Amino acid sequence: MKSDLLASDGGMPVRTAEFPQWPVFGETEERLLLETLRSGKWGGANRSKLPELEEKIAALHGARHGLTMVNGTLSLTVALKAAGVQPGDEVIMPSYTFIATATSALLFGAIPVFADVEPDTLLLDPEQIERLISPRTKAIVAVNIAGAPADMTRLKSIAVRRGLVLIEDSAQAIGAEWDGKPVGALGDIGSISFQSSKNLTAGEGGMLLTNDDKLADAAWSLSNVGRVRGGEWYQHERIGWNLRMTEFQAAVLLGQLTRLEEQLRHRERNAELLTQLLEEIDGVGVMRRRPLQTRHAYHLYMFRLEPELAVRFDKKEAIGKINAEGIPVSGGYVPLNRNTAIVEETERWTGRKQVWDCPNSERASDKEVLWLSQRVLLAEEGDMYDVAHAVRKVVRHLQS
Ligand SMILES: *Cc1c(COP(=O)(O)O)cnc(C)c1O
Repeated sequence: MKSDLLASDGGMPVRTAEFPQWPVFGETEERLLLETLRSGKWGGANRSKLPELEEKIAALHGARHGLTMVNGTLSLTVALKAAGVQPGDEVIMPSYTFIATATSALLFGAIPVFADVEPDTLLLDPEQIERLISPRTKAIVAVNIAGAPADMTRLKSIAVRRGLVLIEDSAQAIGAEWDGKPVGALGDIGSISFQSSKNLTAGEGGMLLTNDDKLADAAWSLSNVGRVRGGEWYQHERIGWNLRMTEFQAAVLLGQLTRLEEQLRHRERNAELLTQLLEEIDGVGVMRRRPLQTRHAYHLYMFRLEPELAVRFDKKEAIGKINAEGIPVSGGYVPLNRNTAIVEETERWTGRKQVWDCPNSERASDKEVLWLSQRVLLAEEGDMYDVAHAVRKVVRHLQS
């Protein structure tokens, strides 16, 4: 039948319409940006929108302190350093994450130790952690991957019992909740990102969240050239960077913030529908959503080709065929335990070649897991049927 011919073989694509563009913006952002421009308060010591933003985002995440920074990579670096992580200290983190999670440590000689992820959530597997703890372990970084909260209850109990710092990399999870509580400040300190793809964006930017006054002061100092909060301008008591965000970014983010709640609801509604539709397709699997993941930020929608299907096909081929049907799926990360830059940099700092055993991350990355970006979930409800239709069409073809 002609309509069943794949678009990649010359058939009709399931969809030709575009998905929504990202970012979404309008008059609110324009007004706030002009206000900033005309005020002459653009940043540095001239702050008016930045404190307002920090207060609002901290409140949204149930955190006492919010500190804006230039990006989410360096805010994670500051989190590690503020928490006392030193060169040579080990930091346990999942291997299935963006490179910045590990870069943040390696930038100053702290050593990433990769734990595998759970196969059905792609979140740091708490079962893997104990065996990776050594006398040099100082911190655990939980990553709320795709906007799905990690099991902060179990991770926290391990961290407390073993005397480790618990850091949340919440770059993808602004607005998500674990057990009814917002993520970001559930551990000792957390980091979010406002980079252009993220669910709340100013093009670039990052922020730290914490309920710990001492960590907040240390992080403030590290990102303000070693100054002391409330001290003199030229009073520098430690070595720090200038990592301050500008007022222009804060203006854009205050505008974006007015859209966040509606966008979170919209994505979650469409994600739930998409899950129902994809679950019905033979050969396709969805991520397990735990009851305690009371709110998912859906920065990404991840799903998988079932193992029996995935072993028989090149994932790139499947992606190409689904793309040809008009659906922008992608393949996602190379697991960090196999990233050459990470492996070499770790060897440079430790003098040893490290090998990490992360089969679930590798299988997800090499064979099984496909991503849709958050903007796809901002489309209409009916558009989710196109996504499922295209996936079904291609998977049936691969199976036949
Ligand atoms: C985006 C991201 C970061 C870092 O963010 P930047 O602001 O781009 O530096 C860190 N961790 C994860 C998991 C991310 O997705």
